[in-house]
Amino acid sequence: MSLQSTTALLLIFLLCFPFLALAQGRRSRVDIIVRGGTVVTMDAERHVIRNGAVAIRAGRIVAVGEQAEIDRKYIAPDVIDATGKVVIPGLINGHTHIPMTLFRGLADDMDLNEWLTKYIFPAEARNVTEDFVRAGTQLGLAEMIRGGTTTYCDMYYFEDAVADETERAGVRGILGETIIDFPVADNKTNAEAMAYTERYVKKWKGNRLITPAIAPHAPYTVSEEHLRAIRAFSNRTGAPIVIHVAETKKEVADITRDHGASPVTYLDRIGFLNDRVIAAHMVYPTEDELAILKRLNVGIVHNPQSNMKLASGVAPVPQMLAGDMSLGLGTDGAASNNDLNMWEEMDTAAKLHKVFTGDPRVVSAEQAFEMATIRGARALHMEHEIGSIERGKRADIVIVDQDSLNQTPFYNIYSDLVYSTKAADVRTVIIEGRVVMRDRRLQTLDENAIKQRARIFRERILRSLAPQGSQPSGN
Ligand SMILES: [Zn+2]
Repeated sequence: MSLQSTTALLLIFLLCFPFLALAQGRRSRVDIIVRGGTVVTMDAERHVIRNGAVAIRAGRIVAVGEQAEIDRKYIAPDVIDATGKVVIPGLINGHTHIPMTLFRGLADDMDLNEWLTKYIFPAEARNVTEDFVRAGTQLGLAEMIRGGTTTYCDMYYFEDAVADETERAGVRGILGETIIDFPVADNKTNAEAMAYTERYVKKWKGNRLITPAIAPHAPYTVSEEHLRAIRAFSNRTGAPIVIHVAETKKEVADITRDHGASPVTYLDRIGFLNDRVIAAHMVYPTEDELAILKRLNVGIVHNPQSNMKLASGVAPVPQMLAGDMSLGLGTDGAASNNDLNMWEEMDTAAKLHKVFTGDPRVVSAEQAFEMATIRGARALHMEHEIGSIERGKRADIVIVDQDSLNQTPFYNIYSDLVYSTKAADVRTVIIEGRVVMRDRRLQTLDENAIKQRARIFRERILRSLAPQGSQPSGN
């Protein structure tokens, strides 16, 4: 090409440029636009935007508003049509033990003490390996993505493997390595467990999806000395602490006998509680203890289905909500639930407290939805990053169908979401700006391979629990 023709082309381009720019409307480029649905933001004013849209770039929400406004300002290579659907913040499962999906249905219909000591602890001692943890984690991740859960808080063994699988699947997790005062699958002593956790936290700290945490099992399975060391570890590393607290009457009686105070008072007395603690269950706090938890902004996670199934009791959720506490919702492990379905958990939470108090006004549908989204984010001390659809937050967004039989006809958005919508109505799931399920097809996990592997583990688990010489049953 001659110099003259190059100059001529350049001149033509420069002359045309303003028209090209005008045609583009100076729209800025983003990665994904979700457009056309009813956007339930869960922002402070609880805005619900009909014909709304969300623009996503580099894993974050760049803009949320009316569809026409977003269309005017943004273009994207991936435009997801949400017309006639509901766009919600990703659900937050505030407490689980994800690899325990492989123990789903292994032992039911007994109390926590018998369930743990006769079945779960022996089954774990004989079966939990890194392979087991990876298989169970994949199973749980696939189930949670299908149900619109984008963040979960976990406590188990080989948590480094849980983190690895979770990051690979593109799911967000606050993942706690368990510390417990007896030898377990991954670590035989407290020193080993603390050293493992040190390496684990160092490795994952700063990861966009994974927040590594330390998880003392409970005040009755971890000594005061070890709890104090865990507190010091958390102060030094910034790692959150995940723990079970005040789950059963037996725990309250045992802690009172051994430490002269009920669990929350005891933990407060040893300086254990602060705003990095995430305490699951909290079925039996006293009124004074609720005030301590509120003052220190301890995150609390309510697990209604697990508490019902193990007959542990009913947490004072209406009081916690009245006190505007940082209260989330969790499924607990699949062995005591028996699924990881946050839709069921919201529905149960709303209904359990009505029947328990005799007052149908407590725990409204909106409050239950809050506990699975923005209030749940507060419980995990992550409310500045997740839990609502707001500019600047991480792009964890779920698109839910709104035309299934169980959702028809439609009157009220929170009622529809909490009492009528099922996990099967979830259509598309975005986490950190990445589509991990599109039109009900998982993008990061192989569902059939996962189920096949889980069935192989089932055979091993049954064999490990069968008395010597007998054949495994398991009907
Ligand atoms: Zn638990």
